[in-house]
Amino acid sequence: MNVILLGPPGAGKGTQAEGIVKEFGLVHISTGDMLRAAVKNQTEMGLKAQEYMTAGALVPDEVVIGIVRDRIAEPDVADKGFLLDGFPRTVNQAEELDKVLSSMDKSIDAVINIVVADEELLSRLTGRRICKSCQKPYHVMFKPPKADGVCDDCGGELYQRADDTVETVKNRLDVYHNQTAPLIGYYKNQGVLVDIDGTKTVGEVFTDIENALKAKV
Ligand code: AMP
Repeated sequence: MNVILLGPPGAGKGTQAEGIVKEFGLVHISTGDMLRAAVKNQTEMGLKAQEYMTAGALVPDEVVIGIVRDRIAEPDVADKGFLLDGFPRTVNQAEELDKVLSSMDKSIDAVINIVVADEELLSRLTGRRICKSCQKPYHVMFKPPKADGVCDDCGGELYQRADDTVETVKNRLDVYHNQTAPLIGYYKNQGVLVDIDGTKTVGEVFTDIENALKAKV
């Protein structure tokens, strides 16, 4: 099964992705995580991507399309199927993805669109903290760690992403509405879109996604 997780920044894509890949045995492909790793390692791609990411803008299509094309071609993805998280984010990326998939005789089985209103996204994102070691997400109010600043799972240090500040979050939401939201219509036309209410609890959202995906298998 090949699945796309769609939704604005802060909708809970990363949190839900963890559960979905476990339950359905899919390979998690997060362009945001891959780009952050490239920035951390100061690779050529990371150096190119860094300024866009810090501003809350999209990294140029050709960069992200390239990393997704390479990852999808790896054997584990062919065996298990994928969960794309944070990609595609523009209609051009979606069209390129369709081309790559059809050349491999593959297609998208479901697009899970997690719906949350902007006001809630702003408070979710600005309070978000992430583990430096295992990337597990927390929230200072809604999901605090047991010990301040320390990951419950691995003991890693929690940090605030550079693009989770108020100004940058507002920019990311504008970018989402202008460039990514048109994908909702794109995938509705393909008959693969499923809307999920992202304001419910993490467990409830997961159950809704699980049921939607089971109906597709
Ligand atoms: P995310 O973790 O998915 O919120 O992504 C963090 C940042 O990485 C975004 O604000 C963009 O700057 C960049 N990024 C991630 N995925 C993409 C993509 N598919 N296209 C362009 N930029 C991306």
